[in-house]
Amino acid sequence: MKADPEAQRRLLDLQAIDTAIGQLEHRVKTLPEHALLVEKQARRQALGQELVAADTVLSDATNAQTRAEADLVPVRERLARDQKAVDSGTITDPKTLTSMVDEIAHLTTRISTLEDEELELMEAVEAAQAARDRLAAERGAVEDEMRALIASRDAAGKDLQADVADRQKARATVLADIPGALVDLYEKVRVRAGGTGAAALQGHRCAGCGLEATQSDYDRYISAPADDIVRCEECDRILVRADA
Ligand SMILES: [Zn+2]
Repeated sequence: MKADPEAQRRLLDLQAIDTAIGQLEHRVKTLPEHALLVEKQARRQALGQELVAADTVLSDATNAQTRAEADLVPVRERLARDQKAVDSGTITDPKTLTSMVDEIAHLTTRISTLEDEELELMEAVEAAQAARDRLAAERGAVEDEMRALIASRDAAGKDLQADVADRQKARATVLADIPGALVDLYEKVRVRAGGTGAAALQGHRCAGCGLEATQSDYDRYISAPADDIVRCEECDRILVRADA
């Protein structure tokens, strides 16, 4: 293939723009926010599961406290009834009176025990509530961090995309200076060669693969007519000669 030497040199401008676009697109894909968001999302999910478990603990504790409260009601009522009967002075039979006083003592002890238990259960409810609140607050904080990361990712992405758009415009200008067939060849080689389709010959070295040409290859490169498209023997990229 042949092409005007100036068009060949423009190929290097095109390559520089394409390399820059590739780097910008890579930066969009590898913004640190992406990895951090994945991390935060995992943490948020874990906290969500912990929160479900904490809710269960809280609801169990609340139920136990309610049951303890309910258990106390009939015992207190019975004590009040007994106390009232004794205080009324209507029980005249000494045996009945003694057994009633015994029962009052027993009920009083029982109530004291139940109240102690209820107090412990109340403390358990408070502890469960506090644990639940801590988890909810932590999840809220993680969600705040995620919102900030999303905003920062989008802002950075927008800047980079704007940069890409600028370079696409410049690319269109450069493209106008290069014949379509040469652009097609460049694109084909670029896909095959990991993003670099055209490279300068710097001294004996191909800037694409970084290898030095053998003397005979080099001689062939520089003795080829200026409008010849020369390909690197090592990497097959389009080799643009400085004086091409
Ligand atoms: Zn090469």
